[in-house]
Amino acid sequence: MSEDPTTDAPMANEGDALHRPGGNRASRLTFLGTGDSLNGERAQASVALPLAGDETMLVDTSSGTVLLGRLAEAGISLESVRHLFLSHRHFDHVGGFAPLLATLASLPEASLLVHAAPDTLRALRNLLDLTLPGSEGWMGDRLGWHELVPGKPTEVGGVEVTPYALDHGLECVGFRVAQADAVAVFAVDTRPTREIVENAMGADLLVHDAYGPQSAPEQAHAMGHSTAADAGEAARAAGVRRLVLTHLRSSRFVDPQVLAAEAEAAFGGPVSAAGDLDTIEF
Ligand SMILES: [Zn+2]
Ligand SMILES: [Zn+2]
Repeated sequence: MSEDPTTDAPMANEGDALHRPGGNRASRLTFLGTGDSLNGERAQASVALPLAGDETMLVDTSSGTVLLGRLAEAGISLESVRHLFLSHRHFDHVGGFAPLLATLASLPEASLLVHAAPDTLRALRNLLDLTLPGSEGWMGDRLGWHELVPGKPTEVGGVEVTPYALDHGLECVGFRVAQADAVAVFAVDTRPTREIVENAMGADLLVHDAYGPQSAPEQAHAMGHSTAADAGEAARAAGVRRLVLTHLRSSRFVDPQVLAAEAEAAFGGPVSAAGDLDTIEF
């Protein structure tokens, strides 16, 4: 029998790795929508991440009422949604905001802080005024607006979110989401840009736009998007651990598995194509 069994391996196997510094917060995200703006097979862009204290942050809102259904299917309560980060003002990213706001207004425990860069914030409030007049007042001081400045981090629920400029042809920001022990970076919607590589440096997960195959880069770039190989090259240059492709066109145009294979060849690391309601640990 060993004189000092506490130095042996079993002590290290008792689950400490599961008790991460973030308390009950796990490093994971759930894709609520993974399609592009014209894809009828998938919901449009939205991702949910858990925060400390059982709160949730969303990146983008998909469109219509689809977000509400996806949140329910993912088991995420509406009252838990406290922070919304918006990448840009295209309808497939902000179109679900009005139904979300109107629904939260009916829930006394709900509150929401909306984070977006200036043009996006202005466009969103104008859209709301046009399509749901008066709704900005429905939640009183339970609704807040926070103007993002690219490069300046914001702390929410134990998570540091840093917006950075993307190249999409209009104001559009990606997000570096840093937790105590893991970093996820979002690059949607965008052409290839150095900003992605700089902000994704050493990240655990890169979630990247993938419009089409590397055989048609002009088409992807003309639309303000990236090829799968562009995503793979960004992942390689940044040295991320894992790449997930999203914002996918319908299956008439692209095969997500082919895109993932192209990205993997460029990256040299693990790549998958996201699906609606996929949850990923990172
Ligand atoms: Zn867009
Ligand atoms: Zn989009």
